[in-house]
Amino acid sequence: MGQMILQPRALQSIRKLRLSVTDRCNLRCRYCMAADRPPTLDRSELLSLEEMAHIARVLCRHLPIQSIKLTGGEPLVRHGLSDLVAELAAIPGSPEISMTTNGTLLRRFAADLKRNGLTRVNVSLDSLDAMRFADVTRGGNLAATLDGINAALENELRPVKLNAVLRRSSWQQDVPQLLLFAGALGLEIRFIELMRTGTERVWCDSEFVSAAEIQTWLTRQGARISLETHSTGSACLSSVHGEGISVRVGWITPRSHPFCASCDRIRMNARGHIFRCLMDGERIPIAELIRTTDETSALIATDQYLSSKKSPAAMVRADSMASIGG
Ligand code: SAM
Ligand code: SF4
Repeated sequence: MGQMILQPRALQSIRKLRLSVTDRCNLRCRYCMAADRPPTLDRSELLSLEEMAHIARVLCRHLPIQSIKLTGGEPLVRHGLSDLVAELAAIPGSPEISMTTNGTLLRRFAADLKRNGLTRVNVSLDSLDAMRFADVTRGGNLAATLDGINAALENELRPVKLNAVLRRSSWQQDVPQLLLFAGALGLEIRFIELMRTGTERVWCDSEFVSAAEIQTWLTRQGARISLETHSTGSACLSSVHGEGISVRVGWITPRSHPFCASCDRIRMNARGHIFRCLMDGERIPIAELIRTTDETSALIATDQYLSSKKSPAAMVRADSMASIGG
């Protein structure tokens, strides 16, 4: 089974697949994970990387998927990740394979990942101040992430995009410093509005700042922001010019301007559950459906699940971001 091409509508709107390979992480970012709660998944519940690759192949055979992004938890703590990259890169149709990482282990793995077919990385970096970085990541070492960014550049995992979550208490320091850093190294940035997750909800609310507020401030400081007409499903793309630099910046605004209507992605967590939205607790157990029924039935059930997608009433997640993959 598997040669039949399915045409259900909801499935045919999906262009991007996010694969969360683990819910474990070597950092504990305040907005993502509880300080002390262990990861929720027992190792026995994790899909093997082979099964993950198999499901990705099934999805790519039937859906117009153009790109696969590896995420987590921290994807680089999952043993054998480079082998998974090689399996995904060999999928007919050659979807782009990228990864979102905190960068701390990139020095060790960048060359292998590149060799096996990874094209580029997003590296999460909220602050260039070592103390603020350690505070938001609960103990992370800024130098390790910066070294990971260098390793990505040296191994041509380009464009390297920084993911920076905006925080009320520090954006006036962090945003200009990140722009100058990105401009100097030729990196792109994604500024992400803070979403409320199951952990630290009160902190998330008090630290929220909208992208619009920052854009207004940058303009008042003399920066010029030119919006690109072409924007992706989730990011409003722009170029920010000023102080002799020019940086491509994507503004990700799930709270101030939800982009649900143009969303073209699905997510699979490390247990093989598909989620139609990061904020949606409902899921469909695609790995189990493929195992116990057949591909066509599994995909029809997935299409029905996607067709009943609702706009999240409020951006609140019951559990941690790391359990699905941000
Ligand atoms: N560990 C990897 C990393 O940090 O890049 C991949 C997983 S992480 C969950 C993916 C992205 O989600 C990161 O860029 C992180 O900053 C973002 N993220 C996590 N929790 C968030 C929240 N509450 N609001 C906005 N972005 C969040
Ligand atoms: Fe780990 Fe990434 Fe979550 Fe930070 S954002 S705790 S690095 S999974």
